[in-house]
Amino acid sequence: MITILSGGTGTPKLIQGIKEIYPEEDITVIVNTVENEYFSGGYVAADCDTVMYTFADMIDDEFFYGIIGDTFKIRNILIEMGTTELLKIGDMDRAIKIQKTILLEEGKTLSEIVEHQKNKLGVKAKIIPMSDEDSEIKIITKEYGELKFHDFLIKHQCEAEVVEVQYSDVKPSSGLIQAIENADKIIIGPSNPITSIRPIIAIDGVEEALKEKEVIAVSPFLGEGAFSGPAAKFMNAFGFEASSIGVAELYKPFLKRFIIDTKDEKMKEEIEKIIPNVQTTNTFMKTLEDKINLAKFVLNE
Ligand code: GDP
Repeated sequence: MITILSGGTGTPKLIQGIKEIYPEEDITVIVNTVENEYFSGGYVAADCDTVMYTFADMIDDEFFYGIIGDTFKIRNILIEMGTTELLKIGDMDRAIKIQKTILLEEGKTLSEIVEHQKNKLGVKAKIIPMSDEDSEIKIITKEYGELKFHDFLIKHQCEAEVVEVQYSDVKPSSGLIQAIENADKIIIGPSNPITSIRPIIAIDGVEEALKEKEVIAVSPFLGEGAFSGPAAKFMNAFGFEASSIGVAELYKPFLKRFIIDTKDEKMKEEIEKIIPNVQTTNTFMKTLEDKINLAKFVLNE
């Protein structure tokens, strides 16, 4: 039994490798929900959907967002009718989001809805949203002041200087702490440490539960930059170095094994002062083979 902590890009790439070599029914994924928001009248739990589509082999893995081969008829009509939408939501993907919205209105929890949808899509892994409560993430920038997460990401293309990242405290979803306690290994995938992983570890009881476990993390950094996205800006805003050294500092209270890229071999000695067990391998997941190789390395298989 393994439990994976995930955001919506780096870790799903690793999940594509893990699911090729490990029984899917023995995998649990705890997913970040801090970026969940309503768009165009529908509830968008982007990271939950990405993880669900990844297991169902439906993910558009060029972007790790949306469904492969989706059409955009509704979006095009909305635009023609004068409604612009920040997120580009495909028709099939929108149906999944509409169902979430309906079921939330009926009083179901996000955990119950994800369980229902992933079962309908034939996913055997367990997918646990980190919380069933609404959370809000705000990016405080130098140029524009307070921005909503997706405004920072899409409207401003991550260009603004980040001063602070704020998110509200939320209660764990039922089953979250148990998913950590029951696992033989916990894998923190190469997700954004500040906006995807830290919101999970900041939840009451999570860090304490992680301290008791074999926790392995893969760094989302190569040198002084992230493989993709704004992780470096967020790390700086939190006072951490934007590199695997900063990630090691952040995960230090509970991390037992840290995997960094071979190209960062020169940082290994420095990181070993923070986390004694540091290993190097290729962490750039371009092909399915890269993903499987990294998954084998992570799981020692
Ligand atoms: P988000 O929810 O879309 O922000 O996605 P995540 O937080 O799950 O993942 C974003 C992180 O994935 C970024 O910080 C990237 O550096 C990392 N990432 C993307 N592709 C790769 C890759 O091939 N290898 C590694 N090690 N990290 C990656």
